[in-house]
Amino acid sequence: MVVVMRAGSTQDDVDRVVDAVTGVGGECFVSRGRHQTIVGLVGDLTQFAELPLHAFPGVEDVIRVSRPFKLVSNDAQPRPSTVTVGDAAISRDTVTLIAGPCAVETPEQTRRACELARDAGATILRGGAFKPRTSPYAFQGLGESGLEILREVSRDLGLPFVTEVVTPADVETVARSADMLQVGTRNMQNFQLLKEVGLAGRPVLLKRGMTATIEEWVMAAEYIAHTGNLQVVLCERGVRTFEPMTRNTLDVSAVPVAQSLTHLPIVIDPSHSGGKRDLVLPLIRAAIGVGADGVIVDVHPEPERALVDGPQALTAEDMAELRSTVTTFARAAGRRVATPATRGPVDRAGWGAAAD
Ligand code: PEP
Ligand code: MN
Repeated sequence: MVVVMRAGSTQDDVDRVVDAVTGVGGECFVSRGRHQTIVGLVGDLTQFAELPLHAFPGVEDVIRVSRPFKLVSNDAQPRPSTVTVGDAAISRDTVTLIAGPCAVETPEQTRRACELARDAGATILRGGAFKPRTSPYAFQGLGESGLEILREVSRDLGLPFVTEVVTPADVETVARSADMLQVGTRNMQNFQLLKEVGLAGRPVLLKRGMTATIEEWVMAAEYIAHTGNLQVVLCERGVRTFEPMTRNTLDVSAVPVAQSLTHLPIVIDPSHSGGKRDLVLPLIRAAIGVGADGVIVDVHPEPERALVDGPQALTAEDMAELRSTVTTFARAAGRRVATPATRGPVDRAGWGAAAD
């Protein structure tokens, strides 16, 4: 941390800063320029967090220079991490396709959507049993019976699945069925939920809050990591902007920015960002081009009858094109498309306390 003193600040002002910092166990290096004095602080940042240095007389600014996240930082682990989901993996060498229905509506619709996902090369299925809806009158998901449907389809197709958990009270139930837990955009800063999913012994897909900065998102991942579970995948799903032509604005820069900060894999959700079927494939090209480690896509056998997010769901026809798009763009980006064979050995060392 650096404390910048105001031009004209006195020696007493500087001494007050130095005394406060050394008083909590830190060290100070004072650099006196012709016009301005700068005090460099060395020590554990948490020591200084309680000091109201901004309010000290003569202080112009307090600038943090080190990162506030530790466990997910690539300072702590420079090698990109691999997250294992059942028999699949999400890693920096490959492009992983995660696909399935937005919501589990019926056994047939879920099975059909997941078959389309599998045929397009998905190694992980998706589907919501507990849906976080803006309106209390909208379909809220089938809950536990939805989980049962997902479990059956996943078992029959031999592919793991990710599903959302919306409240800490449901974490144990959802973790019993799911191979990966999803924390949705509306819950990114539900800190109690982050702690509970961290302890559930399952990998976590953490969506970016729709108004969250990249740092806030990475800090949310740090909450999960803090429980001992480093099996976290970041998911950029679009942020709120002034633009009404798309459901959200896909922040493609989030991929290289997040990769420059953390070792966690990052995937893109082109369905919830674009919000329109016709945008999904172009956004997938952008995602792979910018270096995403995977994409997560909504599929529906009959989108016109979907109870949730029909306009953004890919159809059977789109899925064939999806497969060739992912293959071509992954190759162009120097990556392989993930298959169960690209997983490599499972390392459970970074899992939470309840890992099996
Ligand atoms: C979803 O993936 O089904 C979902 C609700 O996504 P988000 O949290 O990004 O809106
Ligand atoms: Mn949705």
